Amino acid sequence: MLSTKLVVGNWKMHGRLSDNAALLAAIAAGLPPGDAVRVGVCVPFPYLAQAQAVLAATPIQWGAQDVSAHLQGAYTGEVSASMAAEFGATFALIGHSERRTCHAECDDAVAAKTLRALDAGLTPVVCVGETDAQREAGLTEAVVGAQLRAVLAALSAEQVARIVVAYEPVWAIGSGKSASVAQAQQVHAFLRSVLAETSAAAAGVALLYGGSVNPDNAAELFGAADIDGGLIGGASLKAADFLAVCAAACA
Ligand code: PEP
Repeated sequence: MLSTKLVVGNWKMHGRLSDNAALLAAIAAGLPPGDAVRVGVCVPFPYLAQAQAVLAATPIQWGAQDVSAHLQGAYTGEVSASMAAEFGATFALIGHSERRTCHAECDDAVAAKTLRALDAGLTPVVCVGETDAQREAGLTEAVVGAQLRAVLAALSAEQVARIVVAYEPVWAIGSGKSASVAQAQQVHAFLRSVLAETSAAAAGVALLYGGSVNPDNAAELFGAADIDGGLIGGASLKAADFLAVCAAACA
């Protein structure tokens, strides 16, 4: 378990300049004092410059929600990891289930994007998670294990130590139905053991839980032995809720 928890917001495809300014200012103003929690927000690409301008003088870090698997070139509509880095991004979400589902991102693409993010100096937040049907079929560990191992196989030990992993059961994302603490902890302990297969340093990789985290369930989830923080979707769009989740990470 990390001594300082990490809480990262995922705005998904939400925002407008005026709303973002108010949200970011409120979060910056209400952040728990000191370094009891590390906080980041992953914003849509067009708002990276705004995040950089508003947050540069605050302890809050920012990031992108995806990066291209390619370095540069004829890939219309894509955004490279180095472009995100130019706007001061710290994080890049990689392999979010909405990318895997809506954009058919396979494990190989997730591994390639993770490498691009690392090469650009970003911290990839590699997302893994099973569907409801896979859980019902008893396949949770097989699914998340395969997703994580596909990334680990592409990285050196030094690179593995620089990633963050987010366990996000697909059935819990945006559904209002979080995994129970016991369910999340069980998968996190498994993911920790998969990481430990690569190196001792990898066992220290931060493991975030994501999926309907809110002010009511955050403290309990963050109290689990192998949950090092959270990836927060819906609740990251309301300053009061996001701040309450951040405060819960300081307990
Ligand atoms: C997410 O989008 O990564 C997420 C966890 O969403 P929510 O918190 O809304 O379930």
